[in-house]
Amino acid sequence: MASAPSTDVRVRFCPSPTGNPHVGLVRTALFNWAFARHHQGTLVLRIEDTDAARDSEESYRQLLDSLRWLGLDWDEGPEVGGPHAPYRQSQRMDVYADVARRLKEAGHAYDCYCSAEELEDRRAAARAAGRPSGYDGHCRDLTAEQTAAYLAEGRSAIVRFRMPDKTITFTDLVRGELTFTPDNVPDYGIVRANGAPLYTLVNPVDDALMGITHVLRGEDLLSSTPRQIALYEALIGLGVAKQIPDFGHLPYVMGEGNKKLSKRDPESSLNLYRERGFLPEGLLNYLSLLGWSYSADQDVFSPAEMVARFDIADVNANPARFDLKKAESINGDHIRLLSPEAFAAACTPWLRAPHAPWAPEDFDEAAWQAIAPHAQTRLTVLSDITANVDFLFLPEPVADEASWAKAMKEGSDALLRTAREKLAGADWTSPEALKEAVLAAGEAHGLKLGKAQAPVRVAVTGRTVGLPLFESLQVLGRDRALARIDAALARLAA
Ligand code: GLU
Ligand code: ZN
Repeated sequence: MASAPSTDVRVRFCPSPTGNPHVGLVRTALFNWAFARHHQGTLVLRIEDTDAARDSEESYRQLLDSLRWLGLDWDEGPEVGGPHAPYRQSQRMDVYADVARRLKEAGHAYDCYCSAEELEDRRAAARAAGRPSGYDGHCRDLTAEQTAAYLAEGRSAIVRFRMPDKTITFTDLVRGELTFTPDNVPDYGIVRANGAPLYTLVNPVDDALMGITHVLRGEDLLSSTPRQIALYEALIGLGVAKQIPDFGHLPYVMGEGNKKLSKRDPESSLNLYRERGFLPEGLLNYLSLLGWSYSADQDVFSPAEMVARFDIADVNANPARFDLKKAESINGDHIRLLSPEAFAAACTPWLRAPHAPWAPEDFDEAAWQAIAPHAQTRLTVLSDITANVDFLFLPEPVADEASWAKAMKEGSDALLRTAREKLAGADWTSPEALKEAVLAAGEAHGLKLGKAQAPVRVAVTGRTVGLPLFESLQVLGRDRALARIDAALARLAA
């Protein structure tokens, strides 16, 4: 999808490579991607790996792999390069050191020697007195003597940004006008005592240097926006930044019990969706609904359709609720939209080791082709295919004891005997005829079709649930199906 940009829209997706990718991260990536593609702008992928203690190469690799799998392509960044390389912040440390030095020289930042205990004591005192409890500006204007005294004590300093004493207002692309008073935004650290630059510095500095025009990110970062706007103003003064980007904060995603979905919630792990056999387009479709909608009467659409329609002004500021059932149902709709060939291809990983429990030589391509259309109309996730077709490729049906206990009631042996007899004489080229046979067996024992077919299904497939029974019987074939009913009868007699 990437092509030469034709507008000056430049957005970024800038994850920190910690842990496994999660759905909140993907939602942010998706909205930035859709915005960039809609405006034929540029999507920058930047890796915010300045926290050596938490970042990992494994997580970085997974991030890129996940974005590739989802089809969220980027125009500048790792592996593709670009005019602002390098795009990994760990390789840009000299840039941040230089900007921090210039901010200090210009008086926008200063060394703060306060110890953690001193800060805590003063915070507690401010709280007790009902004053704002953020940093109190203690080191804003240290004299040369005070500084020398701190250094003589062996103290080291962090660098703090000096917030201007003014109210900051901006128009959020999602939330409208927002105002922050100085009391709420104290001076903040931008470089650690050991010289390591913090997110508060590196993120806006790179946004500035990379010419980012729109910052779309999660609501959890809203409180950093007034700080970043003030820093931007300083960077413009230094000639580092040209303009302040527009900001849009995407709504929170709520999980179970109306709590914020956390990285630690199992349903937030992207890998889970991949392993369960979500289609990338199904997952993206669902994630786009966390804050956006395509239209009032259509909630299934392709990534290209989303791109065509995406407008940040339509994003809803209210928290979005994560609904796994809805995600599965939308994925199922996308499975239905595949061509038969594409469906079969998408299932392939689940028809092989390590997912498939059958021996590779027992896989029967013709049987698969015959059953696949029945699966395509029913699956919500591709991984379910394995259990739905294993009865065809295993020598014996799986022994699912819960299914057995549920289906095999008193009188099931008599029913099975009659069903076997009727099925033995039926026309196996017609699922309808097989249905008639089981129906007739049920009638003979005063059972409706549903009750009559349960023991047959468990005898033949091992499970109480699965693909349509009579098509399944037909594909399995007369001899194997009857032999399985015999085996079930033998077990019931034992
Ligand atoms: N690396 C930051 C994060 O993952 C980026 C935040 C932002 O988009 O500004 O939280
Ligand atoms: Zn201080």
